[in-house]
Amino acid sequence: MPQTQQVTTVDVAIIGGGLVGASLACALGDLIEAERDERARANEGERRAPLRVAIIEPQPLPRADETNAYQPSFDARASAIAYGSRRHFEQLKVWPAMREQASSIRHIHISERGHLGATRLHADELGVEALGYVIPNAWMGRALHARLDQLPIDWHCPARVETLEAEHGGYRLTLDTGEIIQAGLTVLADGGRSGFKERLGIESNHHAYRQTALIANVEMNRAHDGWAFERFTQEGPMALLPLTGRRMELVWTHEQGDVEEALALPDTLFLDRLQRTFGDRAGRFRRVGQRHAYPLSLVTARETIRPHLAILGNAAHSLHPVAGQGFNLALRGVMDLATAIEKARANGRTAGDALTLAEFEASRTADTHQIVRFSDGLIRLFGIDHAVLGHARAAGLIGLNALGPLRRTLARRAMGIER
Ligand SMILES: Cc1cc2nc3c(=O)[nH]c(=O)nc-3n(C[C@H](O)[C@H](O)[C@H](O)COP(=O)(O)OP(=O)(O)OC[C@H]3O[C@@H](n4cnc5c(N)ncnc54)[C@H](O)[C@@H]3O)c2cc1C
Repeated sequence: MPQTQQVTTVDVAIIGGGLVGASLACALGDLIEAERDERARANEGERRAPLRVAIIEPQPLPRADETNAYQPSFDARASAIAYGSRRHFEQLKVWPAMREQASSIRHIHISERGHLGATRLHADELGVEALGYVIPNAWMGRALHARLDQLPIDWHCPARVETLEAEHGGYRLTLDTGEIIQAGLTVLADGGRSGFKERLGIESNHHAYRQTALIANVEMNRAHDGWAFERFTQEGPMALLPLTGRRMELVWTHEQGDVEEALALPDTLFLDRLQRTFGDRAGRFRRVGQRHAYPLSLVTARETIRPHLAILGNAAHSLHPVAGQGFNLALRGVMDLATAIEKARANGRTAGDALTLAEFEASRTADTHQIVRFSDGLIRLFGIDHAVLGHARAAGLIGLNALGPLRRTLARRAMGIER
């Protein structure tokens, strides 16, 4: 006898419980709770069906003692979180947990090796406690998942979506557990890892930077005092971000062919090379932890909505990490989608209808274009090794330091508090 398959119907199915999918699930979980409170106050009983949300993620979060367990979104990296993202995390009620491991960025120093120019940004000039924060991805995962445990969300983990088929009024998802989910809105938050975008015929623009980011935690000989450093070198941009204690996270871009050697170097030789390339402005590099490599490219999906489908996070746009904007941009997308869904439901529409998704897309276009242009522009501007241009860039950095209002506007943009 054929086995009967369990079919669940939801309003929203989120494919991927990484940083982006888990953030969206938290935002929608809050919406479910707000709708319930509203119904109880208005004494509406169960007249209107509550929003139902499912999230599907194949990789369980590593336990606290599993430092080498693989979870792609919550791996060994730490992320620079803009001040604006802190506000979103406060809205999602995850900031108190996040801030336990968050290191404040109070000053940023931007320079170019071999040229005089440098610019400095300071939190107190902008009247904020910090320009941003650095938080280990694994810790962000824990905070988001702890919040999800408190919310009325269907959490399928470990489970993988194996097929995704369009049907009348939505999509049909088949999981490797045998379950079937029918969803009025499916959100692709799979980081572009599942192949569904391609199978649905959604094309992307690709630009391979032929660069790889080498990531490692380093320990300095002195306190960083909340300084973050962005340094452009002939080999590629480098960033040094403050972590707890004297530790900093290094993001060092290498030409693709050079990274294997840098990964294999003994620690002492690696530290020597790092010191020579970075200079002394952050102090002396004392120790380096495990090194990891991430090939870099700019990928932007040509469609981010279709009827009953929305694409978020790395699946929609994967950027060079030099300006630390990828997740910050994605989180604004998460909040805008949740707002569009909230508004739709308040007006008697569904999460996946055409107007809801058109409103979501309209709210994202300008921000996405601006950030993609900004991150890509930085790489192209500083990637060109040309003496005259180098001096022009140096003059630009010096000039930027002198131009208070413009620098403040740029800083507020990078902090995600001005669009
Ligand atoms: C080196 C580096 C440094 C960075 N630093 C910063 C920074 O400082 N600040 C910043 O804002 N951004 C930064 N970013 C960008 C940031 O990491 C990404 O924007 C973010 O990780 C994207 O998250 P995501 O959830 O979209 O995708 P992912 O992290 O890839 O998560 C996708 C999830 O989908 C799941 N999945 C895959 N297939 C399926 C399936 N079939 N069914 C169900 N689930 C599935 C995966 O298991 C995974 O958990 C950096 C990126 C890199 C590479």
